[in-house]
Amino acid sequence: MISHLFAEHALLPDGWGRDVLLQWNEQGQWHAILKGQTPGDHVPRATGPVLPGVPNFHSHAFQRALAGLTEYRSHASDCFWSWRTLMYRFAEKLNPEQLEAIATGLYVEMLEAGFTSVCEFHYLHHDAQGHVYADPAEMSLSLLRAAKRTGIGLTLLPVLYQTSGFGGVAPTPGQCRFINSAEAMLRLLDRLRPLCQAESARLGLAPHSLRAVPPDSLQEVLAGLDAMDATAPIHIHIAEQRAEVDACLAWSGQRPVSWLLDHAPVDERWCLVHATHMDAQEHQRAAQRGVVAGLCPTTEANLGDGIFEFNTWQIHKGKWGIGSDSHITVHPAEDLMMLEYSQRLALRQRNVAANATQPDVAEALWQGAVAGGAQAAGRPVAGLAVGQQADFIVLDPVHPALAGLSPEMMLASHVFASSRTSAIAQVWLSGQPLVQEGRHALHDVAMAGLVQVRSQLLKG
Ligand SMILES: [Zn+2]
Repeated sequence: MISHLFAEHALLPDGWGRDVLLQWNEQGQWHAILKGQTPGDHVPRATGPVLPGVPNFHSHAFQRALAGLTEYRSHASDCFWSWRTLMYRFAEKLNPEQLEAIATGLYVEMLEAGFTSVCEFHYLHHDAQGHVYADPAEMSLSLLRAAKRTGIGLTLLPVLYQTSGFGGVAPTPGQCRFINSAEAMLRLLDRLRPLCQAESARLGLAPHSLRAVPPDSLQEVLAGLDAMDATAPIHIHIAEQRAEVDACLAWSGQRPVSWLLDHAPVDERWCLVHATHMDAQEHQRAAQRGVVAGLCPTTEANLGDGIFEFNTWQIHKGKWGIGSDSHITVHPAEDLMMLEYSQRLALRQRNVAANATQPDVAEALWQGAVAGGAQAAGRPVAGLAVGQQADFIVLDPVHPALAGLSPEMMLASHVFASSRTSAIAQVWLSGQPLVQEGRHALHDVAMAGLVQVRSQLLKG
């Protein structure tokens, strides 16, 4: 059976389409997208402009519970590393039920904000003492259940974490929940593979970073992954911090991105998370390999990481996605705004994400985040095109920020001028409406669960 929706305006991969008939099949995939149509009386009409849903390429779900709690100064030189100390203290306490409650609340927030899929960069594998659970996939299962309950699309990326610094430095006690041998990681992937298939989730792998995975292990685990699924996505944190670049130079004589490009088969399967500190050559080489640069603009701003050179990346036609990472903000529009504003502040220039062929900044940002996010997710979620999943957003045309505007202006106002209110009326996943009038059906119960767990963790 084919389902239909008629949209007066829909943002297609090649730009805004007028009078678009959207059709999807029983599997929730686009069957046909036809412009210039006249709808029959029986065809339902979208109440506002239709946009593709945005894939969130980077999430550490549990960190949602500490968002906003580390905004005070404990040292004059507070930085990423002092934030990480607090994050570890929180991570030490978390049990599987609490992780599921946090993730459920978070995924509801994501869906309501227009993120229709998420890549979980998941490193909390073991219990608080670092012992392997009876089922080593226990914590991963919490995430799978949260995704199933809320309906969000999931790419699960179990994280390999072994050392606390370059050159095989032993892990700290605070990292005991993260640690796996390459063999144990491959067994975990084996265990997760059928579970992910059953839930239509994509399984990939995340070597945490070059400081956490020695070269031999990296090679071993990549070979194992290839044997299992030679197209599975691979994500890695890289060059987020200047200190990390310096430590990598001291260890290998190379910068992190250069080292990775020289020592790993980096290609379109790879997502380089942050990649904030690349030199001119690294920008060029990484873009040529077809990687996705994984940008987390509000988290990178919150942690004082530095500013990604988006302009340079665009010159090399580099692909990119956005992620909410630490979840200091859970909103694609806000992250896209932050991305553009960071560039304006650094370059003292306006409309940086636009170019000669795409002068509209909000559209350029939205389309880029959808295309790159879908590649990083390894799932068919690349927007309103036949064969992709029918994941879409309907903007609210009577929201004060949008009312009376053209669809192009509505998108720009949604990204730049909705002042922390949401101008989203509906969010559909695989052709099913999950968010109506701005709310997910589980909103109240999921938010109550998240709040309760945060209180428990703060008390403990
Ligand atoms: Zn991260």
